Amino acid sequence: MRLLRSTDLALRVLMRLAVEGESTPTTREVAAAMEVPYTHAAKVVAGLQHMGLVSARRGRGGGLALSEEGRTASVGAVVRAFEGDGDVVDCEGATPCPLASGCRLRGALRRAQEAFFASLDPVTVADVVASPTGPLLLGISRTVPVD
Ligand code: SF4
Repeated sequence: MRLLRSTDLALRVLMRLAVEGESTPTTREVAAAMEVPYTHAAKVVAGLQHMGLVSARRGRGGGLALSEEGRTASVGAVVRAFEGDGDVVDCEGATPCPLASGCRLRGALRRAQEAFFASLDPVTVADVVASPTGPLLLGISRTVPVD
């Protein structure tokens, strides 16, 4: 199963913030560290704020911080939230599959999708920034390029 780009980015933002300590980077700095467009990072950060996993302080000295809920957040819950509840196969698309009303494969794929999510449920953000990942993340510069 392939994750949406926004799902992977949401997890990377959480991981980056998890290793920042007292420092509160801006969304632009996080985007620079993740090497993604600012607009994409901002959209993902808004989603994480909505979930209560990230807090943002405006103004001078402001920035993003991981909430306690963010540190202990389940990777599975984040993946479910960003992926939504769509099927892995689009059976009812513009040209619906003729088997859609009675397909055993569809049920099997749905169970496989749920098993994938469930395998990530016990894994927390704190778990995935343990060494060597955390030190590697800290080694990535978050300097915003000058236009
Ligand atoms: S074969 Fe089954 S799983 Fe595949 S598109 Fe058709 S209904 Fe969906």
